[in-house]
Amino acid sequence: MPDKACPDCNRIVEEGNTCPICKNNDLTTAWNGMIIIYDADQSEIAEEADISTPGKYAVRVKG
Ligand SMILES: [Zn+2]
Repeated sequence: MPDKACPDCNRIVEEGNTCPICKNNDLTTAWNGMIIIYDADQSEIAEEADISTPGKYAVRVKG
């Protein structure tokens, strides 16, 4: 079973069917690319992608 991603915030959800960030439960497996944010405050990628919580994120989510 592939991991799912949240179409709203791009968060990759490895367990369950609900996004831990925005509580969206309409997740999709139609995503590609992955970025891992360790420290959102120190990360230019996080800033660019508007991510404030560390974790794994899809680069692109279809949905
Ligand atoms: Zn989300």
